[in-house]
Amino acid sequence: MLRIGYHLSIAGSLDLAFDRGAAIGCTAMQIFVSNPRGWEVKEPIATVVKDFREKREKLDILPVCHMPYLPNLASTKEETYNKSILSLEKNLRICDELGIKYLITHLGSHLGKGKKVGLESVVNALETVSKSLGGVTILLENQAGHANSIGARLEDLAEIHGGSSLAKNGRLGFCLDTCHLFAAGYDIRTEKAWDEIDRTLGLEKVHALHMNDAKFELGSGRDRHDNIGRGFVGETGFAVMMKNKKITSKILILETPPNPELAEGEEMDLLRSLYGQ
Ligand code: ZN
Ligand code: MN
Ligand code: MN
Repeated sequence: MLRIGYHLSIAGSLDLAFDRGAAIGCTAMQIFVSNPRGWEVKEPIATVVKDFREKREKLDILPVCHMPYLPNLASTKEETYNKSILSLEKNLRICDELGIKYLITHLGSHLGKGKKVGLESVVNALETVSKSLGGVTILLENQAGHANSIGARLEDLAEIHGGSSLAKNGRLGFCLDTCHLFAAGYDIRTEKAWDEIDRTLGLEKVHALHMNDAKFELGSGRDRHDNIGRGFVGETGFAVMMKNKKITSKILILETPPNPELAEGEEMDLLRSLYGQ
């Protein structure tokens, strides 16, 4: 069975994401556990944790969590860096409480200080939070390659993984975003590109993928998601991926934009049909 679903809203209460997912047939989902556009991370109250865990048991939907957008683990500004670590620690704690196994994070921006400094900063940040992991594994997400961002080149992700003690304990892995890969110049419509990705990163370390089409052409460097089959990756591109067991065995999450022409769940069903399910 495919583990597939959408990034879902937690409006109202964290546990309501399960209901939204169940209504459209998700077997996986991604949520934020704190305000995605703020620094504040509020611990959920006990009844919400209880409801979340109960629905998790009852409904066959595997939840993963995405970090908010403001934290920047590659930052060389002390205040931002410290706040980012605090946010990561709090998100880890909440995930652990809720029984969420994977927390996905971007690496951030080196703010013009250079890639080397940024990569070191990320490795240090991961060391710092290693005591707060609980049962959670951190997944580093590849980026589209906008200015000063870290993590568009898979070699860089591999370097961080190699330099981190978390990796040795199996507590660090990757989440690959297909739109970001394509924007960074990896032609994921071809099997050849996936072989290269496997060689560079090791697909066994990838636990989740963000399945997004791309609004701009190969190598654009632009992070603009499109609906599955409507962008430059296209249905034939996704067909290649959905025939690859090294991909379909992972948790697949759609982060595609709302589109009034598409029914809820329709893109997920398209991926399922390309898989042959
Ligand atoms: Zn992301
Ligand atoms: Mn993504
Ligand atoms: Mn994106």
